[in-house]
Amino acid sequence: MSEQSCALSALEIEDLLATRSRRVSRASIYRILEELEQIGMVQRLDIGRGMMRYEPVRHGSGHHHHLVCDRCGRLQPFSDDALERAIERLSDRVPLAVSEHEVVLRGACDSCAD
Ligand SMILES: [Zn+2]
Ligand SMILES: [Zn+2]
Repeated sequence: MSEQSCALSALEIEDLLATRSRRVSRASIYRILEELEQIGMVQRLDIGRGMMRYEPVRHGSGHHHHLVCDRCGRLQPFSDDALERAIERLSDRVPLAVSEHEVVLRGACDSCAD
């Protein structure tokens, strides 16, 4: 998964494993994803209508956030240095030893916005 530039759905993961001639049932993919999420290695993104995408938690290079279209479920990665600095400053002020963060902006994408 960490070879991918952005989040994948369980279905895409299944297809990807199939092309590498690895037969893994969908049920075990979901189970593995759930376990990876619990130990903080994978982040689950709710893209609406019960659809989920999964992304390996990245520190340093490749770290990015997401824009999610509420209408078509399109997911676009974005990163912003000013946002990262703001979160770093905020981390000093909140009662939590912050180890990671995720930002999701929701709305209508270019093709869905009127
Ligand atoms: Zn991503
Ligand atoms: Zn859209």
